[in-house]
Amino acid sequence: MSHHKSLKEECSEANRLLPETGLVDLTFGNVSVCDPDAGVFAIKPSGVAYPDLKASDIVVLDLEGRVVEGELRPSSDTPTHRRLFQAFQGIRSVVHTHSRYAVSFAQAAREIPAMGTTHADYFHGPVPVTRDMTVEEIQGEYEWETGNVIVERFRSLDPLEIPAVLVRNHGPFTWGPSGAKAVETAQALEVVAQMALQARQINPDVSPLPAALLGKHFLRKHGPGAYYGQK
Ligand code: 13P
Repeated sequence: MSHHKSLKEECSEANRLLPETGLVDLTFGNVSVCDPDAGVFAIKPSGVAYPDLKASDIVVLDLEGRVVEGELRPSSDTPTHRRLFQAFQGIRSVVHTHSRYAVSFAQAAREIPAMGTTHADYFHGPVPVTRDMTVEEIQGEYEWETGNVIVERFRSLDPLEIPAVLVRNHGPFTWGPSGAKAVETAQALEVVAQMALQARQINPDVSPLPAALLGKHFLRKHGPGAYYGQK
């Protein structure tokens, strides 16, 4: 009998969304969903094809990284997800993909600049890129250290205002209040990465959008004064 049935279902549904969004090639992506009250999170098993994924395949771990439910080996990126659940209060889901435009910025070691209101609807500023990892970090607890460089990059940023990061030479991580919402943010990230790249191709001298417009669009959709969408 599963003690975490709804958590595992939310996690498998969010993972199955990934191929539908076009964000993943092969098995380059994983979603986790956390139950902070129970102190556990559910994550995709490593290397399993999305169409084959069942809720019963999902692995549940505690926030110390011990498997509490599941037969399969959890995603290789599990320690990165765990580090983010530990550090970023208020998030319930983490998504990792290798979506092509976001990865292109990560590989070019460039943040995704906030060029327009599409970006501002989701991210209250540029989407940052992490620093190079040291050889010691790569040869040590690599996936945990990947989480550490993300947390380090967010020292002076609010993860609830910028719910995404590019890990240098690797790819994007996004997060949110639910599996579906964190996947939606990964989709928005890919859209704005493509738009930013193309805007720069059309006009290499173009500037980011004005701060007033960035704030207007973010705050009409987020926070106490939000008025976008339906009540
Ligand atoms: P897993 O199949 O282990 O989750 O790895 C996928 C991936 O995207 C590695 O970065």
